[in-house]
Amino acid sequence: MKERVLTGDRVTGKLHLGHYAGSLQNRVILQDQYESYVFLADVQALTTHFDRPELIRSHIREIMLDYLSVGIDPGKTTLYVQSMIPEIAELTIFFSMFVTVNNLRHNPTVKAESKNSSLDEMYYGFLGYPVSQAADIAFCKATIIPVGEDQLPHLELARKIVRRFNELYKPIFVEPQALISETPRLIGTDGNAKMSKSLGNAITLDASTEDLAHKIKRAVTDPARVHKNDPGHPGICPIYAYHRAFLPQDAAEIREGCERGSIGCSACKERITSALEMLLAPMRERRAYYAARPRLVDDILMAGTRHTRSLAQETMNEVREAMSLDYF
Ligand code: ATP
Ligand code: MG
Repeated sequence: MKERVLTGDRVTGKLHLGHYAGSLQNRVILQDQYESYVFLADVQALTTHFDRPELIRSHIREIMLDYLSVGIDPGKTTLYVQSMIPEIAELTIFFSMFVTVNNLRHNPTVKAESKNSSLDEMYYGFLGYPVSQAADIAFCKATIIPVGEDQLPHLELARKIVRRFNELYKPIFVEPQALISETPRLIGTDGNAKMSKSLGNAITLDASTEDLAHKIKRAVTDPARVHKNDPGHPGICPIYAYHRAFLPQDAAEIREGCERGSIGCSACKERITSALEMLLAPMRERRAYYAARPRLVDDILMAGTRHTRSLAQETMNEVREAMSLDYF
């Protein structure tokens, strides 16, 4: 049996360059070699957007277009909607019996995302989303999870949960491994440590030529560089981070030029704008193809969801048997 690759994205907004560098690029490469699954994490989106279901709904098709435009091939990758696989929710409940609150509250990603609210104010579903993520991975017995760095604590927990289940009942699950890309965390255009849908600091994959140029033009750079010849500090500059991620062959030269003050911020920005334009142009073409065929996109998602559902049902039969819940 081929190993399985699985990963998903919260349906909270359009995908951006951080997703591309952190995960999508790897998914496109891996789909040639492995059995691949990619899902729209609408239940996980509810953990922070439960009062905005229409936002989630409106982004389902948008993110499908993102997937198809970057080259995720529905002939090689199964695409599905998380909430339409109720077995994942069932498995989440079973897993939640042996995960302590302490284990969840100290998860650094949960802490960072909860905006410092205390445990008392945290929603139960939000605190527990890493458990649901473990179920997302386990039901499908995926072993390779291409993700950004923020997901490492969740993968650690998923491994722990799977091990515990296997010891307690029967060894039916496999331990997943994170696959971290060369760009584990892409910085936002505002200089914030992470480009994110929710922080308004992203360059989306559907950006037009004008949009892209505008976003790069407005992106922060090293504040110490007032004049072109002032020596810069590329280590803190988002533009340099984009050079490293998307134009790595030129990064050493850019670093040197910035540190010596021989290349100015606008010239540096122009170079990355053209490189990104070359990356996004073919994506726009594929997007336009699928955007003109909404029925085809729906069919791809429905077929993928149906296939995944039957896989999930098979796993849950094994789970019930392992847990002695197979009464009839
Ligand atoms: P939200 O703000 O809704 O959480 P997000 O931009 O963090 O949105 P997610 O859907 O949470 O996106 O993340 C999906 C995948 O993309 C995860 O594997 C995550 O690690 C990766 N990812 C997201 N942002 C970045 C980034 N800036 N750099 C690298 N990887 C990223
Ligand atoms: Mg996130």
